[in-house]
Amino acid sequence: MILSVQQRSTPHKTCNSSNMAKRKLSKQQKRRIDSKQKSKIKGDLLGDSKLQLDESSTQTARVISHHGRQLFAETEELKKIKCKIRQNLGDIACGDYVVVQQAKDTENQSQTGDSHSDASQYVVVAVKERSNLLVKTGFAGAIKPVAANIGQLVIVTALKPKPNPYLIDRYLTAAENLPAKALIVINKVDLMDQETRRIVDDLTVLYKDIGYEVISTSIKQDVGLDALSDALSNTTSILVGLSGVGKSSIVKAILPKEEIKIGETSEATGEGKHTTTVSALYHLKDNGIIIDSPGVRDFTPINKSISEITSGFADVRQFNGACKFSNCSHTNEPGCAMRKAVSDGLLNEQRFNNYQRMLQEFHQQQ
Ligand code: GDP
Ligand code: ZN
Repeated sequence: MILSVQQRSTPHKTCNSSNMAKRKLSKQQKRRIDSKQKSKIKGDLLGDSKLQLDESSTQTARVISHHGRQLFAETEELKKIKCKIRQNLGDIACGDYVVVQQAKDTENQSQTGDSHSDASQYVVVAVKERSNLLVKTGFAGAIKPVAANIGQLVIVTALKPKPNPYLIDRYLTAAENLPAKALIVINKVDLMDQETRRIVDDLTVLYKDIGYEVISTSIKQDVGLDALSDALSNTTSILVGLSGVGKSSIVKAILPKEEIKIGETSEATGEGKHTTTVSALYHLKDNGIIIDSPGVRDFTPINKSISEITSGFADVRQFNGACKFSNCSHTNEPGCAMRKAVSDGLLNEQRFNNYQRMLQEFHQQQ
């Protein structure tokens, strides 16, 4: 299955012998360069000098999960492989496309033939260019990659726990800045009563007016799942939202029957620890893919600048630059185009307030 993001990607940092072949080198020169390259790669292989790479086995795979110096990836034939990672490749995230080569263990020729049992069989030699990368702030403000090559952020809310429009808006800023499409799901509509009906209606109108797709679902009563499946086709999506809103239930409910959690891996983090994390890449109908990983699940959006916050509000940003003062803070200056838009009914007040709140929080963090 080839996705558009994959088609747009171009490999870099690859160890490419065909480029060399194009230059006119003597056989002896070629052999020397080849062997130099091989030994460099061998040296890069983190203390495992017995491994030798077979360049004819080069293929592209997509990262399902990543732990330290090892990762699980899925090949274009949808085979799941376990790979070691060559040094100095930089950050690798779930969803990245990587160039993989098979390694021969020259000291252990008695291979079992079971590729899943041999951790040293595949080596990631390059990371392909990404269309986007979702990041989060880790320990001491360090930026950590969460997922790469994402086409759509599915913002899952529910009637229980109640939807939080400010959190929705924060996720929307993340989607706008990636950039990726955003889809808002309101789950558990089976719990609807008079009060919550108004919440659902208001949210739906608000976000549809801005241009986002909003789908109400109930896993319990099988509501909205066809519409949701359609909205997930032909792209790679991640599901974000508070714990308990029903993300796992949604994934389970929309998986095609024949998909028996095909991309799921459960791995120990190594070094004798028994912590097990689960990261998965699910194939849906019509070329839809969902990436689900612990990093994605507990992802909360961060904005790195005021201009990111502004560009994260598709409706507010239209009025940016139209205020009387170019450095307008949109609080109490005369001639503020944004506040005028609110009073003229052209801009939703709640969205504008959330925009202001996000700016304030950003300033407080500085
Ligand atoms: P996650 O933390 O976002 O992955 O949420 P889960 O999928 O684990 O769901 C949390 C709880 O909500 C579980 O008890 C589900 O059975 C329940 N749940 C999920 N979807 C629905 C729904 O449509 N209606 C109702 N009433 N409960 C739901
Ligand atoms: Zn203004």
